[in-house]
Amino acid sequence: MSAETQTRIEHEVRRRRTFAIISHPDAGKTTLTEKLLLFSGAIQIAGSVKARKASRHATSDWMEIEKQRGISVASSVMQMEYRDCVINLLDTPGHQDFSEDTYRVLTAVDAALMVIDAANGVEPQTRRLLQVCRARNTPILTFVNKMDREVRQPLDLMDEIERELGMSVVPFTWPVGMGKFFGGVLDLGKDQMRVFSPGEERATNDDEIIEGLANPVLEERFGSPYMEAASEVELVREAAPGFDEAEFLAGRQTPMFFGSAINNFGVREVLDALVDMAPAPGSRPALQREVQPGEPKFTGVVFKIQANMDPAHRDRIAFLRVASGHFERGMRLKVVRSGKELRPNTVVSFLSQRRELLEEAFGGDIIGIPNHGVLQLGDTLTEGESLQFTGLPFFAPEMFRAVEVADPLRTKQLRAGLTQLGEEGAIQVFRPVAGSVLLLGAVGQLQFEVVAHRLEHEYGVKARIMPARYNVARWVTCDEADGGERELKRFIDGNSHRVALDAVDAPCVLLEYAGELRAMQENWPKIKFHALREHA
Ligand code: GDP
Repeated sequence: MSAETQTRIEHEVRRRRTFAIISHPDAGKTTLTEKLLLFSGAIQIAGSVKARKASRHATSDWMEIEKQRGISVASSVMQMEYRDCVINLLDTPGHQDFSEDTYRVLTAVDAALMVIDAANGVEPQTRRLLQVCRARNTPILTFVNKMDREVRQPLDLMDEIERELGMSVVPFTWPVGMGKFFGGVLDLGKDQMRVFSPGEERATNDDEIIEGLANPVLEERFGSPYMEAASEVELVREAAPGFDEAEFLAGRQTPMFFGSAINNFGVREVLDALVDMAPAPGSRPALQREVQPGEPKFTGVVFKIQANMDPAHRDRIAFLRVASGHFERGMRLKVVRSGKELRPNTVVSFLSQRRELLEEAFGGDIIGIPNHGVLQLGDTLTEGESLQFTGLPFFAPEMFRAVEVADPLRTKQLRAGLTQLGEEGAIQVFRPVAGSVLLLGAVGQLQFEVVAHRLEHEYGVKARIMPARYNVARWVTCDEADGGERELKRFIDGNSHRVALDAVDAPCVLLEYAGELRAMQENWPKIKFHALREHA
């Protein structure tokens, strides 16, 4: 590796920003995404992101999106260039039944942009997603959207975000009025006011600026909303802490921006903040060691699999987050779990709405590798090193169904289909140690419907999805010091009627009531019960 290449890798990593947008449905995530693409010059035509979005809410609509999977996958990862940076934007599924998938997407980003509907404040889905970000110390930027409507008082919102999400909020802008009287925002750092004008068709760079937050013109023009905003700013400046980069990077402080995505207002500030404040890719933990993004050798981890984008070809795309090195098309890679070699020639990157062939990628980039089942969720790819990245979460399901095939002659197809859907993370599949009926585990009801639909349409299997009596699942392990494999086997043998193996043969105990779990823990003190499994 030449010094020149090394310098280039480090330079490319430094200019990467990889982040996810999170929000409760309807807060304006799609609109903001579209505007970010627009401002970065990645798309000219507004409306293209929205076109596919309509289908995200209801089940029936989801079936529709199935038909347009090519589009949906292209827009679940978007790359754009802005200023001197390469920005990778990952979409998170809006429906809460897909939350598992969302959690895994969040493991692939270095920052998150939280969109809050100013009329609704912190909503349940935002709260859940934020918990995941907090657990990983992901830095979060906050965009308070829809200021062109009658919304909550900004001080109120700020207070609620602090309280509900347990992080301090540092306003970078402050709104003057709202709804019909929304005048714009005071930019506290630049000491100026940006005046709001409505309209989606406005050019992206023509906000009217008035210099000086104390400029007498402001009072003349905006009257009492300005006076109110000015005194709130004073209050906030006294009470709130100043921006502290270390606190932000640790996920304990969030910079807050106000705007109206649909009116293109406040969007550029968010893009600039991403470039200026969000971190470049950092190191990532593997079982063996910590991997630095500037290392010369390529490594990456599969965090999402999307199958059958083209049902005619049965292909699936593994989404890989590049953790280090320089990826080049056609290079030889090792799948560490299986030891298999992979030589991806058709690797796709995601430039706004198009899927295109990718020539190279660096730490922080997301690449898509089409494959026929060689790659699974959590897989680590390297140039040969035995390395396993950690941190990809699987959650203990909270809903279970038994699944049977209507036509016994198609049992094989059912198993094949479920294996693939399980590997993809669409559902968790459990094989009871005693008994032959497969069990499905999900965190949301919709997952069962999606699986039944896909089994029928992609694998030609009509499945009967039936009630199962379980409601609680825990993965079980036993430390070496407590008897290790031997003790674990004793536990499994003693509970074979309620133990099942998951997709990677990890044993799991299935129970009807949470209360049973406590009794079981008392009876088996050496066994550990886990609600979360990290792929390893
Ligand atoms: P998502 O579910 O979070 O992706 O939300 P969308 O981007 O689809 O927005 C939900 C609704 O809010 C849509 O009808 C948008 O047109 C509307 N919306 C988005 N941004 C704004 C805004 O700044 N002001 C107003 N008034 N409506 C907005």
